[in-house]
Amino acid sequence: MKQPRFDIDLDKHYNATMVIACAVCGHEHRMTLKTLKPDTSMTCQCGAPITLTPHSIMAAQKRAAEIRQAYRV
Ligand SMILES: [Zn+2]
Repeated sequence: MKQPRFDIDLDKHYNATMVIACAVCGHEHRMTLKTLKPDTSMTCQCGAPITLTPHSIMAAQKRAAEIRQAYRV
């Protein structure tokens, strides 16, 4: 299964937000990393399914930790 592309944003409180781009239409979905559960599924506005595997979430958490380290927080 294709892993969705994602980016990590930190807000001013250093909460990590996962920005997931739909593979079909490119629409970006923002989700707070803290509230994400493994195997989260949602449907894009274009109808394409977006599934987050535990692997994606772990990769996102790792990237968020790296960003926090870069900010020294
Ligand atoms: Zn879409």
